[in-house]
Amino acid sequence: MPEEKPHPENFIKFLGTGGARFVQLKQLRSSGGTWIKLGDTNLMLDPGPGTLVRCWGSRPPLDPSQLDGVILSHRHLDHSNDLNVMVEAMTEGGFSPGGVVFAPADALEGPEPILFGYLRPFLDAIYYLKEGEVYRIKEVEIATPVRHDHPVETYGIKLSYQNLTVSFITDTRYFSKLQEVYKAEILVLNVTFVKPRHTDLAFHLSYEEVEPIINSIRPKIAVLTHFGSSMLMAKPWELANKLEKKTGVRTMAAYDGMLLSLDEFLRD
Ligand SMILES: [Zn+2]
Repeated sequence: MPEEKPHPENFIKFLGTGGARFVQLKQLRSSGGTWIKLGDTNLMLDPGPGTLVRCWGSRPPLDPSQLDGVILSHRHLDHSNDLNVMVEAMTEGGFSPGGVVFAPADALEGPEPILFGYLRPFLDAIYYLKEGEVYRIKEVEIATPVRHDHPVETYGIKLSYQNLTVSFITDTRYFSKLQEVYKAEILVLNVTFVKPRHTDLAFHLSYEEVEPIINSIRPKIAVLTHFGSSMLMAKPWELANKLEKKTGVRTMAAYDGMLLSLDEFLRD
């Protein structure tokens, strides 16, 4: 029998890589969130529909009771649908309280909060994400350097752990400040369209807009994810190769279940 590769200590696991309405609703790609493990800290970013199922369906399974926190970049359904069930799983139905939630104010308050009230007392804390803030959870620093250009309150996140910085540029329209504030060794970009669109429904980055971002940040690895149907039709792995040739930066297109080990970047 072939020897199984040891599971990395530090990793990003992309449970889902689909973005926007159509890909989510047809599940052309999964809309599960992204699990991040840095040292002893386990975080879930943007638990879209299917996240809980994808956690347990992973090999080896990812047990949500091991999570220390759930981070929501914004309240749109493809990012937030499984928020409540993930909090319930993290706290084992309230029998094992703890863990934290990070989310923008409009996900937590106002006319339509999306985190159920009965779950809130199970949590150690609920943090309101704000522009320019830095939060800390165990050994990991979480920064939200800039508010994104998206129809609801939205932030990207920048995680720092030891010598490593990992940036997630979540849903946003392109603006030049993105490349100033998300400097990192690992750069994950939500790239929903192939070409820039200028309509009221098009508040997402396109393939053509990410080249200057990657070129200016020059991470050790850039990962494209959150694909809409135009990206899927254009074969994201081929576009990632093209970008890599143009920029000289190692670039990959995420696929459902992709495990990116961070171990090699933490060794000095
Ligand atoms: Zn969105």
